Amino acid sequence: MNEHLRVTVLGSSNAIPRPKRACSAYLIEGAGRALVADLGSGSLGNLNAYRTADSVDAVLISHMHADHFLDIIPLRYALKYGPRTNDKKVALWLPPGGEDLLHRIVSAFVPESSGDFLGDAFTVGTYDPNESLNVGDLRVRFAPTTHYVPTFALRCECAGASVTYSADTAPSDEVVRLAHESELFFCEATLQRGADDSMPRGHSSACEAGEMARRAGVETLVVTHYPATLDEEGLEAEARAVFAGQVAIADDHARYLA
Ligand SMILES: [Zn+2]
Ligand SMILES: [Zn+2]
Repeated sequence: MNEHLRVTVLGSSNAIPRPKRACSAYLIEGAGRALVADLGSGSLGNLNAYRTADSVDAVLISHMHADHFLDIIPLRYALKYGPRTNDKKVALWLPPGGEDLLHRIVSAFVPESSGDFLGDAFTVGTYDPNESLNVGDLRVRFAPTTHYVPTFALRCECAGASVTYSADTAPSDEVVRLAHESELFFCEATLQRGADDSMPRGHSSACEAGEMARRAGVETLVVTHYPATLDEEGLEAEARAVFAGQVAIADDHARYLA
């Protein structure tokens, strides 16, 4: 293994953060760059364990559910009020439609800001899910997932190493294709096996995460975005029953190399 990418889990909970477990966020580092995929509630504190806010090159948001983006707001405070080592703005890449939603949310805070609440700290942009996006030598590609709002899984590659993050999704052929032969596949498991998902479906179980990992032929499945009601041994057994590769259950601050 070349080990060109390092992923640190900054948030492995589902939509409800719990003690020592923040909502979705992943720090992906490689080729001297740092990007953060999602930034859910509580995850900025975990990011601060590893990096200063102004050392992050880009933040990419998979979809505009609160458990995946709310800590953009405290990140803005960290960038605006420091301490800082540079005056660079952090690239904030949102999914199509995300800019409008985020501007509506932060418009409630604008009176306290003489300028542009987000623009003071970020260069805000919308990524095109049909195009790849480069952060230095990190190359990111996207695939639409099966979820309740427009949501994009992402695959980050660097010097032949690859990491795929499912974001939130029901079992999805598009996510399987994106994850094809990834070294690391971070896949959500929000549901208890056999539990009813709402219709149309928008989440997966650990068994279904394992099936996606098997179909994609990944090396290591990291099960994540699971609720407090599911225990780690059970999740691991479910995934292992269908996937013969390595299985890990995500925990905040766990690190993985690809
Ligand atoms: Zn979620
Ligand atoms: Zn969601």
